[in-house]
Amino acid sequence: MKTSIATVSLSGDLDEKLAAIAAAGFDGVEIFENDFLTFDGGPRDVGRTIRDLGLTCVAFQPFRDFEGMPDAERARGFARAERKFDVMQELGAPLMLVCSNVSPASLGGIDRAAADLRELGERAARRGLTVGFEALAWGRHISDHRDAWEVVRRADHPNVGLILDTYHTIARGVPLDSIRSIPGDRIVLVQIADAPKVDMDLLQHSRHFRCMPGQGDFPLIDFMQALDATGYDGMLSLEIFNDQFRAGSARQVATDGRRGLLYLMDRVARSSANPKGRQPAMPARPSPLGVEFIEFAVDEDTAADLTGFLAGLGFRRAGIHRSKSVELWRQGAINLVINTDKEGFAHSSYIVHGPSVCAVALRVSDVAGALGRAEALLVPSFSQSVGPGELKIPAVRGVGGSLIYFVEPTGQLADIWSVDFDLDPEAQAATEGIGLDRVDHLAQAMGYEEMLSCLLTYTALLDFEKTAQVDITEPGGLVQSQALHGPEGAVRIVLNSSRSAKTQSGRFLSEFFGSGTQHIAFETQDIFETVRRMKANGLTPLAIPDNYYDDIDVRFGLDAALVAELRDHDVLYDRDGEGEYFQIYTPTFADRFFFEIVQRRAYQGFGAANAPVRLAAQARSAPEPTVPKR
Ligand code: MG
Ligand code: MG
Repeated sequence: MKTSIATVSLSGDLDEKLAAIAAAGFDGVEIFENDFLTFDGGPRDVGRTIRDLGLTCVAFQPFRDFEGMPDAERARGFARAERKFDVMQELGAPLMLVCSNVSPASLGGIDRAAADLRELGERAARRGLTVGFEALAWGRHISDHRDAWEVVRRADHPNVGLILDTYHTIARGVPLDSIRSIPGDRIVLVQIADAPKVDMDLLQHSRHFRCMPGQGDFPLIDFMQALDATGYDGMLSLEIFNDQFRAGSARQVATDGRRGLLYLMDRVARSSANPKGRQPAMPARPSPLGVEFIEFAVDEDTAADLTGFLAGLGFRRAGIHRSKSVELWRQGAINLVINTDKEGFAHSSYIVHGPSVCAVALRVSDVAGALGRAEALLVPSFSQSVGPGELKIPAVRGVGGSLIYFVEPTGQLADIWSVDFDLDPEAQAATEGIGLDRVDHLAQAMGYEEMLSCLLTYTALLDFEKTAQVDITEPGGLVQSQALHGPEGAVRIVLNSSRSAKTQSGRFLSEFFGSGTQHIAFETQDIFETVRRMKANGLTPLAIPDNYYDDIDVRFGLDAALVAELRDHDVLYDRDGEGEYFQIYTPTFADRFFFEIVQRRAYQGFGAANAPVRLAAQARSAPEPTVPKR
């Protein structure tokens, strides 16, 4: 499969866009006319740059408001086209994208449109060029690819073909099976975009919400299956209008786009209907089975504060690294690694971010598979030197440059602890702490465009499902929250983003100097016993206002004794059908990250309804955490 991307999808000037497109490994590029008009260089220069970068110029686009015009406008349309053809010849662009007319002056009529396209095809042929016709979802008379195909069929000219665009077809709900009756050799280009399901005006939706394959909700696999049935084997070209992408890094967005296409083709190859018999180009998605450890980068002072804090949460020091200044703190199946070493990745992360989560290790069903997919999907891997006899744990780059380590339940990577650490058998056997069993979820804060990038990386790499995006209102603005979960909820990750610098996520980004893990939730089987022990250890949960309890009392019709206990211990409560959820929060550590403790009873969510209450309580509480007595 050959891949291409339209320059309109990226930020920067034309040179930067082309460099980013080549760096991401695309085969071709569609030149968006405005990118060319605003560029300080002639068409021959641009054509040479494209070729020097090893790219193919796929198309010049768009040519608007052409077909079905009254005579005077019709003549002007051909004159405009001839001028574009001049540019295309100098540029080396073989195909002009003609999108269906939106002008109120257009007259409609399939045969009139076909006659115009035939004449245009005749003129293009004299120059060795081709024109492709695309139905815009908001076209005045032609807004459906079936009508565009009828125009092309009746134009009956070898230099006139059809352009399909997933956005226009899917957003209008045109049946995808209708693609199957179009001959593949009459389709001259296929444009791919994904988008979330949002009920709004199509033009606005298209201009602002298009996203990379895998980032939205469109049935792109169904589209690809129908397309495969036609025999089409030309370029798949991304055309992603999205103002946030155009505000982001061109290289990042280009890489995300290519990753999205590669992941899409992988899903098509693994789908039941695969008419072209495509073979997967990478291993299957391994399952995330659990969080093996979370690593904190700190200096010695903050390490003392952090381990004091963790002691309040019932963690014990369970081991010391054999060669580095690194400690293992443990409770239940939770492993926290406190890294104060003056060398290596954790230290550089500390220099940039201050006290932070610098790495998360996931237990997965197949480490080699995860690494194979990472390579195929352009996710950068990471390695650093280890001491003699120590394990090299494979890793890739995650959110904000942090690391995702991979370990697995069997083989060499099954027991990383006894190899690298001097374990303390007494601490192992000591106590059950405050009853924390496992990591329930991680919450990571990032910018919105990075959230889409991160979402795609996690889901393309591992068997994560995404749930619908949730909007959370907090005192400083709106936060978009996107949850991912592995099979049976073994690993849950919540991605939070905000466009407001005043939200907690927004402040995290500016104060932390980048994206990262903002809170970690641990699971208990008995929240009230846990909170009592936590308080006995000198750590007080985040205070929740009385009004909250008066409200849930009425909202859920809870037993008075239960409400009293919730109120007494500042426990938040949510219910979903028969499912129940209990949550407490710690104060924020060093104004950076905090911990949550949850108890689930057949409940799958994250207490989104409680988030505004928690966020307001955090905004009220002092920036300095109360560090418990050790
Ligand atoms: Mg298009
Ligand atoms: Mg209270």
